[in-house]
Amino acid sequence: MITFKDVEKYYGQFHALKNINLEIKKGEVVVAIGPSGSGKSTLLRCINALEEISSGELIVNGVHINDPKTNLNDVRKNLGMVFQHFNLYPHKTVLENIILAPMKVLKEPREQAVVTAESLLERVGMLDKKDAYPNQLSGGQQQRIAIARSLAMKPDIMLFDEPTSALDPEMVGEVLDVMKKLAADEGMTMVVVTHEMGFAREVADRVIFMADGQILEDREANAFYENP
Ligand code: ADP
Ligand code: ADP
Repeated sequence: MITFKDVEKYYGQFHALKNINLEIKKGEVVVAIGPSGSGKSTLLRCINALEEISSGELIVNGVHINDPKTNLNDVRKNLGMVFQHFNLYPHKTVLENIILAPMKVLKEPREQAVVTAESLLERVGMLDKKDAYPNQLSGGQQQRIAIARSLAMKPDIMLFDEPTSALDPEMVGEVLDVMKKLAADEGMTMVVVTHEMGFAREVADRVIFMADGQILEDREANAFYENP
């Protein structure tokens, strides 16, 4: 579903990704760990074409994203991304935040978008907050809304960039629980940058360890813990 072949990424002179070879299959949950500045965000941002690779090949959902003929909006439509910061629209209610993109981008009629949004809100345990504004919610609640908003676009792949790093510790669990359900119940293909090793242990199929722009380890999750 995601294939990196000999991918290099430079920011100017800075070599941010070095000889990345990675194959992620449908339904796999891959956790990326490693020190700050090792290239984890860059790796995610290449997958949804927020960053352009410098050389090599990157195929996402069957599409060569470095082919100039590729319409990147078509690629991004099938990808959901959740960031450290939730980036909800502050002047829109929870429900309005979720239905906006399906109506605009997928051209869903409002009634249909609302039905989908309400079922997503139910899944993330937030239906009772559908008319609230983001600033009336805790960080953990806002992040669950941000996940629901991504899912409303019916993505094939979900990318998470440190989704719990901005949260108070007591809110981390509720967000991880939503992500666990997504992996277990729906078989969502997920790439997750996180420091939450408990999540990696329980949910990941594979753990990749990055340092200095390279993938130094790529192991089945179980093996990662048995042979550190
Ligand atoms: P991580 O997610 O592992 O913390 P990043 O992928 O964010 O690492 O960054 C990897 C390296 O690339 C860092 O040294 C960072 O400063 C650099 N970098 C990231 N984005 C840019 C950019 N837009 N321009 C220049 N350098 C960047
Ligand atoms: P995160 O830790 O969430 O990756 P960062 O603070 O590293 O966030 O990066 C935030 C933004 O700044 C990103 O868009 C990244 O590409 C950009 N950035 C990071 N490092 C550099 C850098 N050295 N020069 C220019 N832009 C950078």
